[in-house]
Amino acid sequence: MNDVIELKHIIDAQPVKGRADEVYSIYNPATGKIIRRVQAASADDVRLAIEVAHERSEAWRAVTPSKRAQMLFNYRQLIIQHTDELAQLISQEHGKTIDDAKGEIARGLEVVEFCTAINNHLKSDFTAEVSSGIDSYNLRQPLGVCAGITPFNFPAMVPMWMYPVAIACGNTFVLKLSEKTPSCGLRLTELMYEAGLPAGVLNTLVGGKAAVDVLLQHPLVKAISFVGSTPVGESIYREASHHHKRVQALCGAKNHLVVMPDADLTQACDAILGAAYGSAGERCMAVSVVITVGDETAEQLIEQLAPKVQQLRVGAYHEKDVEMGPVVSQDSKNRIVDYIEQGVAQGATLKIDGRDTSVGKGFFLGGSLFDHVQPTMSIYLDEIFGPVLSIVRVKEYADALALINTHAYGNGAAIFTRDGDAARHFSMHVEAGMVGVNVPIPVPVAMHSFGGWKRSLFGSAAIHGMEGVRFYTRLKTVTTRWPSGIRQGAQFNFQGGK
Ligand code: NAD
Repeated sequence: MNDVIELKHIIDAQPVKGRADEVYSIYNPATGKIIRRVQAASADDVRLAIEVAHERSEAWRAVTPSKRAQMLFNYRQLIIQHTDELAQLISQEHGKTIDDAKGEIARGLEVVEFCTAINNHLKSDFTAEVSSGIDSYNLRQPLGVCAGITPFNFPAMVPMWMYPVAIACGNTFVLKLSEKTPSCGLRLTELMYEAGLPAGVLNTLVGGKAAVDVLLQHPLVKAISFVGSTPVGESIYREASHHHKRVQALCGAKNHLVVMPDADLTQACDAILGAAYGSAGERCMAVSVVITVGDETAEQLIEQLAPKVQQLRVGAYHEKDVEMGPVVSQDSKNRIVDYIEQGVAQGATLKIDGRDTSVGKGFFLGGSLFDHVQPTMSIYLDEIFGPVLSIVRVKEYADALALINTHAYGNGAAIFTRDGDAARHFSMHVEAGMVGVNVPIPVPVAMHSFGGWKRSLFGSAAIHGMEGVRFYTRLKTVTTRWPSGIRQGAQFNFQGGK
């Protein structure tokens, strides 16, 4: 028990012990053992973090964007130097392979790189002579204290979707990490201070609903970014909006991939394998449904796919050539097994059964593959968030599109085809926020923005990229006239722009 490490929150650049009664145990999913513990942040801890962030807000917004960018250049360098250490922290608590952990750090780093050009992103419009002698220009100004609530599955990338953008825009930030995988986010916070961030600009906590409720209700918090499951995101959206905050809540998913009869099936098969089973399916952009157009397409695809699913190399993150790690917890494993049982009971064909895997003592599952899944089944309707792929067979492309468009979620969708017309029609008409054409996980790069539609996002702003800059700033429009401009005495009528 002595080798269990106690984690601390970071408030005002100092390590702080939580004061809530609750203590979270953090597991290594590859061994099933507790490796770290953290006493949760209490409501008072969160209030303190908000007050500190508020106190530092005036000074930080007065730092020029160029100087903020300079700090982020230092940060970028530190993340590169510490990638191995950060990846270890992610894999130890999440279970994903080291290469996958490095991949998510690289995607987070892209956002930091985007933020090093914050001068350019905050550049505004100026219009001369909107009326005689009158000019207008726009400013985008920081909001003050912003807060982020992040999920377990991307312990580095998702926090980095939020605080670098908010802080580059001149805000201060309170980050509430997932209690399952907090170590990487805490270390990333320390590195921000090493990079030169003034104390109190980023405060990082680990806590539960009580901690989140303070963030949602506190009058000094101006914006809430949430990434996590749909039921939690929906309630966070409601509560924070009720307290007059701007909210972006990026939520759950059921991402479909359509395989057309003319697709390169070998390419599609490999793409599906990585997108469905990478990170044990614990990605909001994981492909969890494949729609095959035509029975022949289904037969040929399954012939290639099923043996590869059967032979997936499942193991601990540090083992050689491992393709898929464990799921994050015993609860997750039980929930996924329960869904597989429901799929069988509801009449789907379980081609590959991943329930029995003899790998280690951790929370391991093999890959599961269902064929003949019907749109009324729970394995089709719900987000399982595990290594379970459903194949739905349809006759025509139009049936595939209709299925996706009537599904409750709309995060990502992909089509595999050689037909440009079909690809274009799909891109134009599919009801999803992120679309892939022969790309299975179309996660936008940092200068574009990430966000789904329907029950995959509540609020109107996608995250990072220019959507992020707009979310973390307020628009101000200034209209100016100087003494040499035309003066005609008092004007009582509203003036047009002539
Ligand atoms: P989760 O909703 O359980 O938790 C997310 C965050 O909310 C955590 O910080 C957690 O502590 C907090 N939380 C949990 N219950 C809460 C409650 N009742 N009140 C207030 N806060 C609460 O999600 P998770 O299991 O950590 O992550 C997996 C989910 O996140 C999946 O649904 C996945 O699709 C989604 N996700 C979405 C995106 C996206 O961009 N759309 C990205 C990554 C993950």
